[in-house]
Amino acid sequence: MSYSNPDKKKIARLVAIHKEHRKKRNPKTLFTELKKGDKAALSEAITLLESAKEADQKMAATIVRDCLPVSGKSIRIGITGVPGVGKSTFIESFGLYLIYQGKKVAVLAIDPSSEKSRGSILGDKTRMVNLSVHPSAFIRPTASRGSLGGVAQRTRECIVLCEAAGYDIILVETVGVGQSETAVHSMTDFFLLLMLAGAGDELQGIKRGIMEMADSIVITKADGKNIKAANLARSQYKSAMHLFPLNENKWSPQVETVSSTEKIGIEKVWQIINDFVKLTKSNRYFDLNRKEQQLYWMHESIKEQILQDFYSDKKLAKKLSDLTTQLNNGEITSQEAAKKILESQRNGKKNL
Ligand code: GDP
Repeated sequence: MSYSNPDKKKIARLVAIHKEHRKKRNPKTLFTELKKGDKAALSEAITLLESAKEADQKMAATIVRDCLPVSGKSIRIGITGVPGVGKSTFIESFGLYLIYQGKKVAVLAIDPSSEKSRGSILGDKTRMVNLSVHPSAFIRPTASRGSLGGVAQRTRECIVLCEAAGYDIILVETVGVGQSETAVHSMTDFFLLLMLAGAGDELQGIKRGIMEMADSIVITKADGKNIKAANLARSQYKSAMHLFPLNENKWSPQVETVSSTEKIGIEKVWQIINDFVKLTKSNRYFDLNRKEQQLYWMHESIKEQILQDFYSDKKLAKKLSDLTTQLNNGEITSQEAAKKILESQRNGKKNL
């Protein structure tokens, strides 16, 4: 390789790529591109959202603010169920069905395990093979940085960005094992719980609370030898759902069976969602729910910020460490320790 004769063309091309890249990172151009439905701009904006850098976060906040007036028009659907229930297979079939109906579909995910496993539920390239390459679909794995609250906050902002980019259906997937359902339920219009036939609620780790949140339960893999069991499960869940009190939205949750591989029952699920949207729009619950969700997330953000400020305060950290020692030595109770440190904080750290 000769250093005296650099490849000018190559350098010029690299400079052009760099310039193009910088142009895209400008919030205004990113927003303009994103609004046109440009997937690269949408991805870039989400990357800014997920970034830990302050400058990136500022840019992301500007983009989200610009997107807000042109967002909100989608149907936001939460999808949950234990690993192996068939979420990704269902999303692939359902997503392609929706695209066939002329929709643009975005798939986002909240994966509480991703931080530990360093991989996300959507990280596996083999999932949703056909949907992921479709021009009308946008699939984005979960952001794993930070607490569930932080991840959920960013997912909500992702929803806004996807809506501004023209996606009419937003699917937010999560694993049915913990608090993340509540987070997803609080950011979506419709909550879909996927269940296996014959596995038993306890086996599936599905808590009653999650079933109560569901607007529809769908029994998966209703094909082949499993059809009979799926139908039985359907009637059992139907009876169980009747025992729950009627929701504020006057909707009675529906139970259905699907086979994502055989593509049976997919359109029934879409029909249920349409019925739900029609009912809740006519009784105004749809908008009311979104307003309540905004309020909920405002309070969640406040709590998150207070906690962050508290635990990142160096002076308080010293006091906390002293109190921990006292606690370990049995010189103080947990409550006393908590009271002391909160008092210190309230007194403007005068006692530190
Ligand atoms: P996830 O972990 O919930 O995302 O589940 P997957 O979608 O990865 O599915 C788990 C397994 O169930 C895979 O082996 C799928 O092929 C299988 N599966 C998913 N949906 C169906 C279905 O409708 N019928 C049958 N027979 N198998 C299915």
